[in-house]
Amino acid sequence: MVGYWHTHPADIPEISPADMKSFSKFAACYPQELPHPIAVIVGTSSQPEGIKAWSFRDNGNAVAANWMAPQSSEQ
Ligand SMILES: [Zn+2]
Repeated sequence: MVGYWHTHPADIPEISPADMKSFSKFAACYPQELPHPIAVIVGTSSQPEGIKAWSFRDNGNAVAANWMAPQSSEQ
């Protein structure tokens, strides 16, 4: 297990405040086993950007993983 995932009704998923809350709860359950859990949110787009992942860090922030969208760093 590395984290959890769920679906969103949007084309391109974005993590929501409610997601952050449940993600924080999830992370707090496994501080030893999963110090940096991954949240994957699946949208409805069939393109690669329809699936996005966030890594949860100790400071309470979720960091987006841009593994398949190198162009996003130039925007
Ligand atoms: Zn969500």
